[in-house]
Amino acid sequence: MQYHLSCTRCNRRFHIDAPLWKCSSCGGTLEVVSEDIAKGDFDSFIDKGMRGLWRYRKLIPLPNDPVTLGEGGTPTVMRKEPKTELCLKLEYISPTGAFKDRGASVSVTRAKGAGAKYVVEDSTGNAGIAAAAYSAKAGIKARIYVPSDAPRVKKMLISAFGAEVVECSSRDEAAARSKSELKMGEVYIGHMWDPFYIEGMKTIAYEVYENSYRVDSVVVPVASGTILLGIYGGFRFLESLGLVDNFPSIYAVQGEGCAPLYEALHGRIASSRSSRLADGRRIKDPPRKDEILKAIRETGGDVFMVSDEEIAPAMKELYRMGIMAEPTSATVYAAFRKNENELKGRVLMPITGTGMKNTDSLAAVFGKIGLSHR
Ligand SMILES: [Zn+2]
Repeated sequence: MQYHLSCTRCNRRFHIDAPLWKCSSCGGTLEVVSEDIAKGDFDSFIDKGMRGLWRYRKLIPLPNDPVTLGEGGTPTVMRKEPKTELCLKLEYISPTGAFKDRGASVSVTRAKGAGAKYVVEDSTGNAGIAAAAYSAKAGIKARIYVPSDAPRVKKMLISAFGAEVVECSSRDEAAARSKSELKMGEVYIGHMWDPFYIEGMKTIAYEVYENSYRVDSVVVPVASGTILLGIYGGFRFLESLGLVDNFPSIYAVQGEGCAPLYEALHGRIASSRSSRLADGRRIKDPPRKDEILKAIRETGGDVFMVSDEEIAPAMKELYRMGIMAEPTSATVYAAFRKNENELKGRVLMPITGTGMKNTDSLAAVFGKIGLSHR
C-alpha cells in the first residue's frame, strides 16, 4: 500500500518520508494516511512468521528493519460481570512495562531509517522510558525531558537506559523545551506528535481482532490520546475490510485536576481537586484533542472522570484479580465500576502500565503511608 502524511487541520499532504513532526504550514498534527483502499482478508496483512507488533509490519509504512524488543502480542484476561464481559488486555506485559513500547518501537524504527543519531522525547515517565530503551537497542542517543516531580524510579530507568534526563519545572515546560532545544540532526519523536507512534498503537486493535475478541466498547486512559487514536484507527482499518459489524463505542478516562477532554465534551470544569495517583495523566492541552473528541463523538462514546478515592479501591480490586496495574492504569477499571450501567456487551480495557515502576503510589494505596508521601 502507498501512504502519505496528512495534516489533521489544513489537510496539506506531505511525502511519507518528510522529516516532520507537525504540519509545516499550519502547525497542526500529522497522521499517516493510506492512498489505496485496502483489499483482501486480514490474514493477507499478517506476517505469520513474526510474533508481536511486527506481525503487522505490512500495515506499517516503514521499509527498514524494525527496532524491536519483542513488544506487542500482550495477553488478554476475560472476566464476566453481571451486565458485561471485560476483556482486560495486559499491555503492561511489555519490554519496559507499558503500552508505550508499541509506539516507541515504531517511532525509533522510523528515526533509525531516517539516519538519526539523536532522538528527543518529552514525557512524565513511561513514554520516556520506552523511548530510552528503544534508542539504546537502536544504538541512537536519546534526550528525554521530564517534569521534576515525575516518579523517581521512572527518571532513574530513563537514565539507566543511557538517555540524558532533562528535569523541568512542569510537564508543559518539558513539552516546550524538548522542541525549542532541538538541534540540527536531532529527531523529535515526541509521542504526542509523532504520527508513526499511533501506527504502533493500531496493532492493539489488530491483535484483538486476530484473537477473535469482538468488542462493543473500549475504555482507555487518555493523556496525549495515542492509545485511543490507535485503537480507533485500527478498528477503522478493520472496518474498511468489512470486518467490523458494530463499531465499538470509545470511552476516555481522565483523572481529577487534569481533564481537558471531559471539560471540552461536557462543557464544565471537571473538578478543582487534583489527582495525585494518576501521575501519567497531566497533559492540559493535548495536541490531538480535536481528533480524540471526534473519535469519541463519532462512536457514541464519552469521557469519564475518576478521583483518587475511586482509583485506590479499583486498584485494590485489580490486584485481587492478579492484575499488577499502576494507578494511572487502574483509572479505567475505576471508571468502569462507576459507569457500569452505561457500558454494554464486551468491554475492551487495556491495562497500560505496570505497578512496579511507581512504588510510592503502591505504598499510598496498599501501605500505611499517606498520599502526601512522594
Ligand atoms: Zn496544516
